[in-house]
Amino acid sequence: MRNQLGKTISLGHGSGGKLSHELTGNLFVRYFNNEILAPQTDSAIVKVNRENLAFTTDSFVVDPLFFPGGDIGKLAVCGTVNDLAVSGAIPLFMSASFIIEEGFGMDQLETIVKSMAEESRMAGIKIVAGDTKVVDHGQCDKLFINTTGIGVIDPERIHISTGANIRYGDKIIVNGTVGDHGVAILSARESLSFESKLETDCACLNHLIADVLKKTDKIRFMRDATRGGLATVLCELAADKSFGIELDEVGIPVKEGVKGMCEIFGFDPLYMANEGKAVIVVAVEAAGDVVSLLRKDPIGKNCSVIGEIVEDHPGQVVLKTEIGGKRIVDMLAGEQLPRIC
Ligand code: MG
Repeated sequence: MRNQLGKTISLGHGSGGKLSHELTGNLFVRYFNNEILAPQTDSAIVKVNRENLAFTTDSFVVDPLFFPGGDIGKLAVCGTVNDLAVSGAIPLFMSASFIIEEGFGMDQLETIVKSMAEESRMAGIKIVAGDTKVVDHGQCDKLFINTTGIGVIDPERIHISTGANIRYGDKIIVNGTVGDHGVAILSARESLSFESKLETDCACLNHLIADVLKKTDKIRFMRDATRGGLATVLCELAADKSFGIELDEVGIPVKEGVKGMCEIFGFDPLYMANEGKAVIVVAVEAAGDVVSLLRKDPIGKNCSVIGEIVEDHPGQVVLKTEIGGKRIVDMLAGEQLPRIC
């Protein structure tokens, strides 16, 4: 097993793609081995007394700390809230731990903390615990944030994070354009200027998702398409399952600016990170209602049906291209952009 992992950690182990999965499966899940961790969902579902709780953790190492449309603080709150929300849970409480490099500017830290406060207030999640560590100059890069989130989940929604109720013919919906976050970070990093500003899509999805769950009990699966992008979420969903996924390239919303940047840098928007996008699998009879509901919200107005669950090619994601061909969509092999979130 050790040999499969390689001798040292590479950036690819943090990509969310193939190497991350190998590391998680062959090391962490293997040793921590328990039935709650095993399904590797966005949030662990734990039962405390009679209440089902969703429980999640995340670390944020994005570089740069400030980027068009957001900063590491907003990202930390949204990332945590979204992992709970896509599990079907109502986010309630979170913690925030700060690992800070000596010499980091107090003004910058205050800006980041204010942004976390504002975002958490809007999402309705309370930051109720935290920790601060400071390391010598040069021993971490400015600031890292670690969070934990807790929410409550209705027993009837527990199946959403695993996709246990998925059926052939279910429709796959995304709530808007893909790749925005990845491209915003890329442009901030490369100090590129564009005529049209490309901003992160970083947003808390819990209110939007709550509206959808109120409207229908036909949601079969949800996951936020963060690191590794839309492609990674769908590959994870299909892996080892008795169904396949067919995607329709024409249906996948991508901003022109994002397409352009991806072409210049040789990236595929399907693998670019998002921080405010959920992949929603819904029974075919409820798909129309869900789309109309999403469209009423600014963060769902560009939603689209991008594909469906099929009987063919079980375990695989196949993309019907714009020009009528078909290609297999695989999990990201290496690292597309490190420190994206
Ligand atoms: Mg997630």
